[in-house]
Amino acid sequence: MDFAYDDAQGMARQAAEQVVRRFQPRLDEIWDEVFQHHRFPTEIWDALSEAGLHGCVVPEEYGGTGLGLSALTAAVEVLGRAGLVNALVILTAMDALCVLRNGSDDLKGRILPEVAAGRMKIAFALTEPDAGSNAFRISTFARRDGDVYRVTGQKTYISGIDEADRALLVCRTISADDLKAQGLPKAYGMTLLLLDPKDPGVTLRPMPMRGIEGARQFTVHLDGAAVPVCDRIGEEHQGAVALFNTLNPERILASAAACGMVQYLLDRACRYARERSVFGKSPIGAYQSVQHPLAEVRIGLDAARLLTQRAAWAFDRGLDPHEVGQYANMAKLTAADLAVQAADRAIETLGGAGFSEEYRVIQLWETARLLKTAPVTRELILNFVAEHLLELPRSY
Ligand SMILES: Cc1cc2nc3c(=O)[nH]c(=O)nc-3n(C[C@H](O)[C@H](O)[C@H](O)COP(=O)(O)OP(=O)(O)OC[C@H]3O[C@@H](n4cnc5c(N)ncnc54)[C@H](O)[C@@H]3O)c2cc1C
Repeated sequence: MDFAYDDAQGMARQAAEQVVRRFQPRLDEIWDEVFQHHRFPTEIWDALSEAGLHGCVVPEEYGGTGLGLSALTAAVEVLGRAGLVNALVILTAMDALCVLRNGSDDLKGRILPEVAAGRMKIAFALTEPDAGSNAFRISTFARRDGDVYRVTGQKTYISGIDEADRALLVCRTISADDLKAQGLPKAYGMTLLLLDPKDPGVTLRPMPMRGIEGARQFTVHLDGAAVPVCDRIGEEHQGAVALFNTLNPERILASAAACGMVQYLLDRACRYARERSVFGKSPIGAYQSVQHPLAEVRIGLDAARLLTQRAAWAFDRGLDPHEVGQYANMAKLTAADLAVQAADRAIETLGGAGFSEEYRVIQLWETARLLKTAPVTRELILNFVAEHLLELPRSY
């Protein structure tokens, strides 16, 4: 085992640090744009493109740097510490990895260079009103019609699809009823397509959501939306297997963003605790009832970071998606729980100031809390660990 960052991670972290330094004088202004005006931070996206960070997961032959998911994970943590992670950065990278691992040569040649150059943003559309935690229950249906699929159905909570050039759409090409009639498993008959959100068969309706800032959520109505067959990722009906090449990186990158957020909250809380004096000369940071909760979070951060890096390492080495999933799930649960704890303890340290938008802590409580629920809930992770690592029976 080697616990040091390798060269690729070092390069990606350096690139991210440069972006942070460039925007440091204007961080307050950027936070206002994102948190108060709910705008997508285009200039940050462009700066990440220039720094080559969108190309981390894209091999050199397709115009990327090929540094890998571990490197992007390390960079996302740096960006998270400065509050500069946007959901579309994570979504685009995870979708690109799915194209890389499962797409045809033609698809890779058309999509990956665009992603590497920062010219293509990709949203992710899995959740439906009746299918969240139970992804196999989706009913959005893609019917083959010559050279295109015609897609009908509804997706919900889809982040950033208004800004995106494509969406990785998870749909059925065999209905649940037909699967049952044919005695086929429920994981069969799913297909992944790259949808153009501007297709006339697509209608977006914004949702009044909180939790992810700088990327709004939408319900997506699909009424015969056309997707060329050549924009299918992987084999027809076999999308469930390919899907894990995007869900695992999503969990890993979400964990990295949470680790960055935890570091931001610790920085904020410790700075305040060093400066704030309430009784006499000692700052409140000298009181152990203030120190210890923050020290516990600091220890938790090392644990969450190591779990996150192990998961990214396993993905980059091409380990079995089921094994990567174990690591990704454990990292995500640990990092998300820690982020909520860190936000709560930062608020505790700041007292009333913890509720002032000016200190930029209360806003992160919502983001941290969201990470316990999305992209996958902690209950579903605990179910997975109980079933697959502890071999306990499944009740649902
Ligand atoms: C801000 C935001 C952004 C999002 N962005 C996207 C996106 O871009 N793309 C996308 O596809 N989706 C997105 N989602 C959806 C997100 O992934 C789902 O909300 C999440 O997976 C949970 O699904 P659900 O909301 O349907 O909850 P449900 O599946 O209805 O679950 C409700 C509760 O029941 C619990 N539960 C359910 N089954 C079990 C069980 N067997 N055992 C124990 N507990 C159980 C769950 O853990 C949860 O606490 C987003 C959600 C939010 C809030």
